Amino acid sequence: MAWFKREKKPIENPTPVEERRVRTEGMWTKCGACRAIIWKKDLQANWEVCPKCEHHFRLGSRKRLELLLDDEVYTELDAELASSDPLHFTDTKPYAQRLKDAQHKLGMKDAILTAEGHLNGRPVICCSMEFGFIGGSMGAVVGEKVARAIDRALERKIPLIIVSCSGGARMMEGVVSLMQMAKISTALGELDDARVPYICVLTDPTTGGVTASFAMLGDLNVAEPGALIGFAGPRVVEQTIRQKLPEGFQRSEFLVEKGFLDAVVHRRDLKSYISRALDFMKV
Ligand SMILES: [Zn+2]
Repeated sequence: MAWFKREKKPIENPTPVEERRVRTEGMWTKCGACRAIIWKKDLQANWEVCPKCEHHFRLGSRKRLELLLDDEVYTELDAELASSDPLHFTDTKPYAQRLKDAQHKLGMKDAILTAEGHLNGRPVICCSMEFGFIGGSMGAVVGEKVARAIDRALERKIPLIIVSCSGGARMMEGVVSLMQMAKISTALGELDDARVPYICVLTDPTTGGVTASFAMLGDLNVAEPGALIGFAGPRVVEQTIRQKLPEGFQRSEFLVEKGFLDAVVHRRDLKSYISRALDFMKV
Protein backbone atom coordinates (compact mmCIF):
# COMPACT_ATOMS: atom_id res chain seq x y z
CA MET A 1 0.00 0.00 0.00
CA ALA A 2 1.44 3.29 -1.02
CA TRP A 3 1.60 5.62 2.01
CA PHE A 4 1.14 8.71 -0.07
CA LYS A 5 -2.21 7.71 -1.43
CA ARG A 6 -5.31 9.11 0.13
CA GLU A 7 -7.37 6.15 1.21
CA LYS A 8 -10.24 7.98 2.82
CA LYS A 9 -12.80 9.79 0.76
CA PRO A 10 -12.08 13.50 0.37
CA ILE A 11 -14.05 15.77 2.64
CA GLU A 12 -17.20 16.74 0.82
CA ASN A 13 -17.54 20.34 -0.02
CA PRO A 14 -20.96 21.45 1.24
CA THR A 15 -21.45 24.20 -1.32
CA PRO A 16 -19.89 24.63 -4.73
CA VAL A 17 -17.21 27.31 -4.97
CA GLU A 18 -19.35 29.71 -7.00
CA GLU A 19 -22.03 29.77 -4.33
CA ARG A 20 -19.57 30.38 -1.52
CA ARG A 21 -18.82 33.84 -2.74
CA VAL A 22 -20.37 36.52 -0.54
CA ARG A 23 -23.15 38.28 -2.34
CA THR A 24 -22.79 41.99 -1.88
CA GLU A 25 -24.33 43.21 -5.07
CA GLY A 26 -27.46 45.27 -4.44
CA MET A 27 -26.87 45.40 -0.69
CA TRP A 28 -25.29 48.82 -0.67
CA THR A 29 -26.39 52.15 -1.96
CA LYS A 30 -24.79 55.54 -2.33
CA CYS A 31 -26.31 58.62 -0.78
CA GLY A 32 -26.92 61.25 -3.45
CA ALA A 33 -26.27 64.08 -0.99
CA CYS A 34 -23.19 63.09 1.07
CA ARG A 35 -21.89 60.29 -1.19
CA ALA A 36 -21.60 57.93 1.75
CA ILE A 37 -21.97 54.24 1.01
CA ILE A 38 -24.85 52.97 3.10
CA TRP A 39 -25.96 49.45 3.82
CA LYS A 40 -29.46 49.18 2.36
CA LYS A 41 -30.80 47.47 5.48
CA ASP A 42 -29.64 50.42 7.60
CA LEU A 43 -31.39 52.75 5.22
CA GLN A 44 -34.60 50.73 5.36
CA ALA A 45 -34.49 50.57 9.15
CA ASN A 46 -34.16 54.36 9.18
CA TRP A 47 -37.26 54.86 6.96
CA GLU A 48 -35.07 55.65 3.94
CA VAL A 49 -33.29 58.58 5.59
CA CYS A 50 -29.49 58.69 5.22
CA PRO A 51 -28.00 57.87 8.66
CA LYS A 52 -24.98 60.09 7.88
CA CYS A 53 -26.49 63.33 6.53
CA GLU A 54 -30.26 62.97 7.02
CA HIS A 55 -30.94 63.16 3.29
CA HIS A 56 -34.49 61.95 2.67
CA PHE A 57 -34.69 59.25 0.01
CA ARG A 58 -38.06 58.56 -1.60
CA LEU A 59 -40.28 56.37 0.55
CA GLY A 60 -42.66 53.88 -1.11
CA SER A 61 -46.39 54.46 -0.72
CA ARG A 62 -46.99 51.37 1.44
CA LYS A 63 -44.05 52.18 3.70
CA ARG A 64 -45.45 55.67 4.07
CA LEU A 65 -48.76 54.34 5.37
CA GLU A 66 -46.85 52.08 7.75
CA LEU A 67 -44.86 55.09 8.96
CA LEU A 68 -47.93 57.17 9.71
CA LEU A 69 -50.54 54.68 10.85
CA ASP A 70 -50.60 52.88 14.20
CA ASP A 71 -49.13 49.36 14.34
CA GLU A 72 -48.59 49.63 10.57
CA VAL A 73 -52.21 48.49 10.22
CA TYR A 74 -54.75 50.01 7.86
CA THR A 75 -57.72 49.17 5.65
CA GLU A 76 -57.08 49.94 2.04
CA LEU A 77 -59.93 51.66 0.17
CA ASP A 78 -60.90 51.31 -3.50
CA ALA A 79 -57.88 49.12 -4.24
CA GLU A 80 -59.51 47.71 -7.38
CA LEU A 81 -60.03 50.97 -9.28
CA ALA A 82 -57.99 50.86 -12.50
CA SER A 83 -57.63 53.13 -15.51
CA SER A 84 -59.59 52.34 -18.66
CA ASP A 85 -57.16 54.20 -20.97
CA PRO A 86 -59.89 56.65 -22.14
CA LEU A 87 -57.88 58.09 -25.06
CA HIS A 88 -56.28 54.80 -26.23
CA PHE A 89 -53.05 56.71 -26.00
CA THR A 90 -49.72 55.59 -27.40
CA ASP A 91 -46.35 57.34 -27.15
CA THR A 92 -43.14 55.31 -27.22
CA LYS A 93 -45.29 52.44 -26.02
CA PRO A 94 -49.04 52.02 -25.56
CA TYR A 95 -50.40 53.51 -22.35
CA ALA A 96 -52.27 50.26 -21.65
CA GLN A 97 -48.93 48.43 -21.66
CA ARG A 98 -47.33 51.08 -19.44
CA LEU A 99 -50.15 50.59 -16.94
CA LYS A 100 -49.81 46.84 -17.02
CA ASP A 101 -46.04 47.03 -16.44
CA ALA A 102 -46.41 49.42 -13.51
CA GLN A 103 -49.19 47.33 -11.97
CA HIS A 104 -47.07 44.22 -12.27
CA LYS A 105 -43.95 45.92 -10.84
CA LEU A 106 -45.63 47.56 -7.85
CA GLY A 107 -48.60 45.32 -7.11
CA MET A 108 -51.01 48.23 -7.14
CA LYS A 109 -53.60 49.37 -9.70
CA ASP A 110 -52.65 53.04 -9.87
CA ALA A 111 -50.38 55.71 -8.41
CA ILE A 112 -52.06 56.21 -5.04
CA LEU A 113 -53.07 54.18 -2.00
CA THR A 114 -56.00 55.40 0.05
CA ALA A 115 -56.56 53.92 3.46
CA GLU A 116 -58.37 54.21 6.73
CA GLY A 117 -56.46 53.69 9.94
CA HIS A 118 -55.46 55.30 13.21
CA LEU A 119 -52.81 57.92 13.90
CA ASN A 120 -51.86 57.90 17.59
CA GLY A 121 -55.25 56.40 18.37
CA ARG A 122 -57.26 58.86 16.30
CA PRO A 123 -59.17 57.56 13.24
CA VAL A 124 -57.94 59.16 10.02
CA ILE A 125 -58.13 58.77 6.26
CA CYS A 126 -54.65 58.71 4.77
CA CYS A 127 -53.65 58.79 1.09
CA SER A 128 -50.15 58.09 -0.13
CA MET A 129 -48.85 58.61 -3.66
CA GLU A 130 -46.41 56.26 -5.38
CA PHE A 131 -43.78 57.90 -7.58
CA GLY A 132 -42.72 54.57 -9.03
CA PHE A 133 -46.09 54.28 -10.78
CA ILE A 134 -45.70 56.40 -13.95
CA GLY A 135 -44.06 59.21 -11.97
CA GLY A 136 -46.88 59.30 -9.43
CA SER A 137 -48.97 61.03 -12.07
CA MET A 138 -52.61 61.89 -11.51
CA GLY A 139 -55.08 60.36 -13.94
CA ALA A 140 -58.77 59.59 -13.51
CA VAL A 141 -58.10 56.83 -10.98
CA VAL A 142 -55.92 58.93 -8.67
CA GLY A 143 -58.50 61.72 -8.92
CA GLU A 144 -61.40 59.41 -8.19
CA LYS A 145 -59.64 57.71 -5.28
CA VAL A 146 -58.75 61.05 -3.70
CA ALA A 147 -62.32 62.32 -4.22
CA ARG A 148 -63.73 59.18 -2.59
CA ALA A 149 -61.27 59.50 0.30
CA ILE A 150 -62.46 63.10 0.81
CA ASP A 151 -66.11 61.95 0.74
CA ARG A 152 -65.35 59.31 3.33
CA ALA A 153 -63.56 61.79 5.59
CA LEU A 154 -66.54 64.12 5.22
CA GLU A 155 -69.08 61.41 5.94
CA ARG A 156 -67.25 60.15 9.00
CA LYS A 157 -65.99 63.59 10.09
CA ILE A 158 -62.46 62.34 10.53
CA PRO A 159 -59.23 64.14 9.45
CA LEU A 160 -57.75 63.63 6.01
CA ILE A 161 -54.02 63.40 5.34
CA ILE A 162 -52.62 63.27 1.82
CA VAL A 163 -48.96 62.57 1.20
CA SER A 164 -48.09 63.79 -2.27
CA CYS A 165 -45.23 62.58 -4.42
CA SER A 166 -45.98 63.26 -8.06
CA GLY A 167 -44.80 64.70 -11.33
CA GLY A 168 -48.28 66.16 -11.94
CA ALA A 169 -51.19 65.34 -14.22
CA ARG A 170 -50.97 62.19 -16.35
CA MET A 171 -50.34 63.23 -19.92
CA MET A 172 -51.67 59.95 -21.30
CA GLU A 173 -55.14 60.83 -20.04
CA GLY A 174 -55.09 64.38 -21.40
CA VAL A 175 -57.99 66.54 -20.36
CA VAL A 176 -59.47 63.74 -18.23
CA SER A 177 -56.51 64.07 -15.88
CA LEU A 178 -56.75 67.87 -15.80
CA MET A 179 -60.41 67.59 -14.87
CA GLN A 180 -59.40 65.84 -11.65
CA MET A 181 -57.89 69.07 -10.33
CA ALA A 182 -61.28 70.81 -10.35
CA LYS A 183 -63.10 67.74 -9.06
CA ILE A 184 -60.79 67.30 -6.07
CA SER A 185 -60.63 71.00 -5.28
CA THR A 186 -64.43 71.19 -5.16
CA ALA A 187 -64.61 68.18 -2.83
CA LEU A 188 -61.96 69.78 -0.58
CA GLY A 189 -64.08 72.92 -0.47
CA GLU A 190 -66.93 70.86 0.97
CA LEU A 191 -64.55 69.33 3.51
CA ASP A 192 -63.50 72.81 4.53
CA ASP A 193 -67.12 73.96 4.91
CA ALA A 194 -67.74 70.99 7.21
CA ARG A 195 -64.64 72.01 9.23
CA VAL A 196 -62.99 68.64 8.85
CA PRO A 197 -59.18 69.04 9.05
CA TYR A 198 -57.05 68.33 6.00
CA ILE A 199 -53.27 68.05 6.25
CA CYS A 200 -50.97 68.01 3.23
CA VAL A 201 -47.58 66.36 3.42
CA LEU A 202 -45.45 67.28 0.42
CA THR A 203 -42.55 65.00 -0.40
CA ASP A 204 -39.89 64.96 -3.08
CA PRO A 205 -41.04 65.70 -5.78
CA THR A 206 -44.45 67.40 -5.79
CA THR A 207 -44.95 69.26 -9.03
CA GLY A 208 -47.41 70.18 -11.79
CA GLY A 209 -51.15 69.63 -11.45
CA VAL A 210 -50.83 67.98 -8.06
CA THR A 211 -49.16 71.06 -6.53
CA ALA A 212 -51.74 73.17 -8.34
CA SER A 213 -54.63 71.31 -6.74
CA PHE A 214 -54.84 69.19 -3.61
CA ALA A 215 -51.19 69.24 -2.45
CA MET A 216 -51.34 72.91 -1.48
CA LEU A 217 -54.92 73.17 -0.22
CA GLY A 218 -54.45 71.80 3.29
CA ASP A 219 -55.33 73.54 6.51
CA LEU A 220 -51.71 72.75 7.20
CA ASN A 221 -49.13 72.23 4.46
CA VAL A 222 -45.92 70.59 5.61
CA ALA A 223 -43.03 69.22 3.60
CA GLU A 224 -40.11 66.91 4.10
CA PRO A 225 -36.60 68.44 4.09
CA GLY A 226 -35.07 69.16 0.71
CA ALA A 227 -38.18 68.21 -1.31
CA LEU A 228 -38.61 69.69 -4.78
CA ILE A 229 -41.97 71.44 -4.82
CA GLY A 230 -43.24 73.62 -7.62
CA PHE A 231 -45.40 73.84 -10.71
CA ALA A 232 -42.97 73.93 -13.64
CA GLY A 233 -39.46 72.62 -13.08
CA PRO A 234 -36.54 75.00 -12.33
CA ARG A 235 -35.04 74.62 -15.80
CA VAL A 236 -38.27 75.65 -17.52
CA VAL A 237 -38.71 78.63 -15.20
CA GLU A 238 -35.12 79.74 -15.77
CA GLN A 239 -35.47 79.53 -19.54
CA THR A 240 -38.76 81.43 -19.50
CA ILE A 241 -37.77 84.34 -17.27
CA ARG A 242 -34.14 84.31 -18.49
CA GLN A 243 -32.79 84.88 -15.04
CA LYS A 244 -30.59 82.89 -12.76
CA LEU A 245 -32.68 81.33 -10.03
CA PRO A 246 -31.73 81.82 -6.38
CA GLU A 247 -30.08 78.97 -4.53
CA GLY A 248 -32.47 76.42 -3.07
CA PHE A 249 -35.28 77.57 -5.39
CA GLN A 250 -38.36 75.31 -5.16
CA ARG A 251 -36.93 73.35 -2.24
CA SER A 252 -39.06 73.04 0.89
CA GLU A 253 -36.83 75.22 3.11
CA PHE A 254 -36.96 78.03 0.51
CA LEU A 255 -40.74 77.73 0.24
CA VAL A 256 -41.26 77.96 4.02
CA GLU A 257 -39.20 81.13 4.03
CA LYS A 258 -41.37 82.59 1.26
CA GLY A 259 -44.61 81.62 2.98
CA PHE A 260 -45.74 78.87 0.60
CA LEU A 261 -45.52 76.18 3.27
CA ASP A 262 -46.12 76.06 7.00
CA ALA A 263 -43.24 73.88 8.09
CA VAL A 264 -40.47 71.50 7.13
CA VAL A 265 -40.72 68.33 9.17
CA HIS A 266 -38.16 65.54 9.43
CA ARG A 267 -39.59 62.13 8.51
CA ARG A 268 -38.95 60.74 11.99
CA ASP A 269 -41.07 63.54 13.53
CA LEU A 270 -43.83 63.50 10.94
CA LYS A 271 -46.32 61.32 12.79
CA SER A 272 -46.00 63.13 16.12
CA TYR A 273 -46.13 66.49 14.34
CA ILE A 274 -49.40 65.63 12.58
CA SER A 275 -50.81 64.23 15.79
CA ARG A 276 -50.01 67.44 17.69
CA ALA A 277 -51.48 69.53 14.89
CA LEU A 278 -54.73 67.55 15.07
CA ASP A 279 -54.76 67.98 18.87
CA PHE A 280 -54.42 71.68 18.28
CA MET A 281 -57.31 71.60 15.81
CA LYS A 282 -59.32 69.81 18.51
CA VAL A 283 -60.45 66.76 16.59
ZN1 LIG B 1 -26.14 61.11 3.07
